[in-house]
Amino acid sequence: MSPCPDLEVLFAELEAGEGPGLDHAAECDACAALMEDHRLLEQDLFRLADPLPPASLVVNVMARVAQSPVPQRREVWTGLAILLTSLGAGLGFLFTSDQALGRMGTGFASTVGNSRAFLEGLFSGAHALWSTAGVAVACFIAVVVLSSLFGLKRLVGSPPPSLSEA
Ligand SMILES: [Zn+2]
Repeated sequence: MSPCPDLEVLFAELEAGEGPGLDHAAECDACAALMEDHRLLEQDLFRLADPLPPASLVVNVMARVAQSPVPQRREVWTGLAILLTSLGAGLGFLFTSDQALGRMGTGFASTVGNSRAFLEGLFSGAHALWSTAGVAVACFIAVVVLSSLFGLKRLVGSPPPSLSEA
């Protein structure tokens, strides 16, 4: 009977599937016991590295998916759309009213011609426009704030207020 092979040689032959070491281990109780230990250890290592998922995994995942609050995401987008639309409308109004101020100033300049009168006219025109359009601006800001609050309420998830409340 040949002497017991080196462990590394034995395991290398085990990987290859053949070799004099394996032939020896088939007749040697000590080497056969070693190889059996190695087999069990390898099995445990594979189990640690790649644990099998529990049998109920798919059922659990599907249950979670069914329960997940998909509508909340839609609520967020609705609220964002409301916020962006109202903000855009408010900014657009401010921009156009600024243009209106500029047109009024140019009109006064061409009518009066005198720089002092132009400045006075410009200021009084701007003041007049502000005093009349100021209410509209204030109303617009109120609308923007209210619609923002409406959007925030929807984000929080409380039942949306009725149109009259908004
Ligand atoms: Zn041996």
